[in-house]
Order: sequence, then structure tokens, then C-alpha cells
Amino acid sequence: MPLNVPGILVPLHLLINPRLVVPSIVVKDIRQLDFQALYRAGYRGAVFDKDNCLTVPHEDRLVPELTEAWKECRETFGPGNVLIVSNTAGSHIDVGEIEAESVTYHLSAPVLRHPSLKPSYSCIKSIRAYFASLPRPIRDEELVIVGDRVLTDVVMANRMTRRRPPPSTHMEKASSEEKGLESDLGLARPDGVGPLTVLTEGLWKRDAFALRALEKGMLRGVERWVLNPQEAAWRENLQHRFVKPTPVEAEPVKAKEGWVRRLWDRLRN
Ligand SMILES: [Mg+2]
Repeated sequence: MPLNVPGILVPLHLLINPRLVVPSIVVKDIRQLDFQALYRAGYRGAVFDKDNCLTVPHEDRLVPELTEAWKECRETFGPGNVLIVSNTAGSHIDVGEIEAESVTYHLSAPVLRHPSLKPSYSCIKSIRAYFASLPRPIRDEELVIVGDRVLTDVVMANRMTRRRPPPSTHMEKASSEEKGLESDLGLARPDGVGPLTVLTEGLWKRDAFALRALEKGMLRGVERWVLNPQEAAWRENLQHRFVKPTPVEAEPVKAKEGWVRRLWDRLRN
């Protein structure tokens, strides 16, 4: 694992703005995301972390359980509008960009090449440059950013949030309405204008146990002590609108043995 200097410096930023660790919504994995509802609400692009979000860490293939959800996501947002941003594949440690090529091949989605790790502002700049270069450019507030790590994925997404312009700017309102955006979702964050931040809590392989426990503790602390009722209500609304029930794993059901079968087995043995 490379030394993530931007990640190490995050706690200093959290002293100023602890809300950076708070995701808009929390899901077990991407199967719980209602991509069509997100699209209807005005979201036009998505950024996904790779390790423990779409793949088992350090593997290049999609977790089989996510096949349908991943297909639906790419079909909903369109090719090119779903971008994978990883601190392994496509980063400076991916020598020769071999892993990025492999992930693009297996997941049928582009992998961002970026010189600096998440949650750096340099990485944010690369993401913005990618979405600005599309035939129909996508703005920060039209993005859904999904990842399994609070101090990298969530903090990076929340760093893309900017202060809301004053209500007198009719130009921006008109522009949003022209593009069909609903006014009560992405554009209605209590703390500004920015992407929808999604934290996935289910792990495909256990890793960084202590760091994850620390992240969870920080998040619970901020949720409890920092967020105001308006922010809590906003998150509840998003959770209600965009999150589907937890996927039920098909577990092998053991047939219940009747007394006749047990007696027959005993006589036979
Ligand atoms: Mg990850």
C-alpha cells in the first residue's frame, strides 16, 4: 500500500470542517442504489472507487454479485459517464497503466489516470477535467461519487462541494431548470452545492480493520455531535429516495429432516 500523504493530512482539514466525513447516503453495496431514480433526479454521471467497492481488493474483475447493478448503472448514465477512480489502478503506482487497462477491459468502464491519490485536490482536478471533456459536460452537482472509505472517497467527494450562490442568481436557477434538474436534491444540500456522496459499508474482503474502525467512530461522532436537524432530515430524505432494500443473499436452505427419514437412516446404519 503506497504512502497516501493527502490522506494523512485529512485530519487537519477535519479540525476545520468535520462534516467532510459525512456521506449523503450509506448503502451495503451498489445493488442498493436506485440508479434510475438518481437519473430522474438530475444526476448524470458517477465516480466509483474500485477496491472493496466493485472488486475484491487488488483484483481486476467485478465481483459477480454486482453484475446486474453495474450493468444497470452504465446503461442508465451512459458509456463514458461512469468513471472508476482508484488509488491503485490508474494511479502513479500503476506502472505502465497495466492494471488500469485490465480494469477497463473487465468492467467496461474508463479508469481515471491521476498523478495524486484520493482525496487530494489534484485528483479532484483530474476528475473535473474528465467530466468537463465529455460531449455533454457534467458538473460536480450532477455526479454521484461512490466508495467504501470515509477518509478518501467520502472526504474527496465532499471537498467538491462549494458554497451555495446567493438566491438572487436567477441565471443559475434557470440554467438548472433547462437541464431538467429537480431543485430539491443535489442542488439542495444544506451545506452547499456538490456531488452526492455514497458510502458502501459491505466489504468483499476484510482489510485495514483499525483504520475502518477509526473512520466509523469519527463518522458516528460527527453524526451525533455536529450535524444539525436540517442536515439529518436531508440525509434521511436521500436515503428514502435513492436506496433500495438490502439485497437478500440466496443462502442454501437445509432441508428439514422428518422423523421417518431419521429412523430410516438409523436402521440403515
Ligand atoms: Mg476502496
